[in-house]
Amino acid sequence: MDTLYRTSVHHITPNARTYVTSLYERAREVELPAVYDGDDVVVDIGRDGANARLSSKDGAVSIEVESRTEQGATLLRSFLGHFLEKVAAPEKPELVWDGFDADLDELPGLREMTLVDRKMVTPRMVRVRLAGRDLARFASSGHIVRLLFPPSGLAAPEWPTPGKNGRPVWPEEGRRPQSRVYTIRDVDVAAGMMDIDFVVHGAHGVAARWAVDAPIGDVIGVLGPTGLGLRQAEWYLLGGDETAIPAIARILAKIDPTAHATVFIEIEDAAERQALTHSDYVTVHWLERNGLPVGRTTLLVDAMKSVTLPHDRTKVVWIGAELETVRDLRVYFKKDLGLDRLELNASGYWRFGKAESAPTE
Ligand SMILES: Cc1cc2nc3c(=O)[nH]c(=O)nc-3n(C[C@H](O)[C@H](O)[C@H](O)COP(=O)(O)OP(=O)(O)OC[C@H]3O[C@@H](n4cnc5c(N)ncnc54)[C@H](O)[C@@H]3O)c2cc1C
Repeated sequence: MDTLYRTSVHHITPNARTYVTSLYERAREVELPAVYDGDDVVVDIGRDGANARLSSKDGAVSIEVESRTEQGATLLRSFLGHFLEKVAAPEKPELVWDGFDADLDELPGLREMTLVDRKMVTPRMVRVRLAGRDLARFASSGHIVRLLFPPSGLAAPEWPTPGKNGRPVWPEEGRRPQSRVYTIRDVDVAAGMMDIDFVVHGAHGVAARWAVDAPIGDVIGVLGPTGLGLRQAEWYLLGGDETAIPAIARILAKIDPTAHATVFIEIEDAAERQALTHSDYVTVHWLERNGLPVGRTTLLVDAMKSVTLPHDRTKVVWIGAELETVRDLRVYFKKDLGLDRLELNASGYWRFGKAESAPTE
């Protein structure tokens, strides 16, 4: 019998019924599959057994979340808690979630890790090796982590701690680490090692600069992992720029060996090509910018739009690239071609001209 991660919250209000309706609408707006079950609303995301029941009874809105994985439970909790805070904003709700992690002093997903090695994979990609303890959770299906870079000059780094509202509480300005999202390229739980590949895009990036310059022995925080596994399908179209190479490599390693995949990866030039492990049913096309400005070409958009999607096979389209590119492709695959939320997984990996913003809390 699988462990179930359960967490719930109750907000007393005379508007409970209206709020449940508003929560239903908000969930649908972001394509969470919310449906009515009598007067209750049920959200079942179809992965990791993660589901939530939203109800109004005894003068309160109740949200009860359960999942086979901690990531599934925290993801749903974070969405639904945020929505409840928005729809009930005039009442300034102070949500206190109970359940699997309510009494912890440290975030269960946070590890202090030490930079132990680095090597260049290509001229614009550096592989950083981090050492830490108790990494089993990072070998699960989620492969996305938030790296925390403490400001220099602190006697000891300070990390976020668990908040009663289900979200981390960050140290105050000046002491709080800067954070950036990355993909676990590889993890060796027995050896206590994790590899992360950083695109070396310039000294303006906190993370990119750290990856190149930080002294061996430097300590950062690693928070996660997040990301639910990709749906298994018979046919895949994967597209990204160099920031998505680690994710694409992991997807190719996980998909069924008989599945067909067409992969487009935009890179600076031929020197950025990497050897990726995949079956004979996978074709990788490298799209070289050769001097065209990064984040401002239509190479990926044109290539992905040129592919005819099969109608007779289960399919997944996955995209990770600069935000505008992703927006263009998301509209195309969702609105023009009608892919549903299980068939399309498109994420902005970075934003042209903008540093990644910190999480709100
Ligand atoms: C789910 C997810 C997984 C990711 N995995 C990886 C990964 O494994 N490896 C990886 O390298 N990146 C990855 N990224 C992208 C990475 O988080 C961003 O590139 C991030 O902005 C880098 O932080 P920074 O501190 O170096 O730059 P920032 O301080 O965020 O940005 C500074 C400036 O650099 C520009 N910039 C940021 N990234 C790039 C880029 N790639 N090329 C050119 N200019 C850029 C910004 O537009 C801004 O002007 C991932 C992003 C997401 C959402």
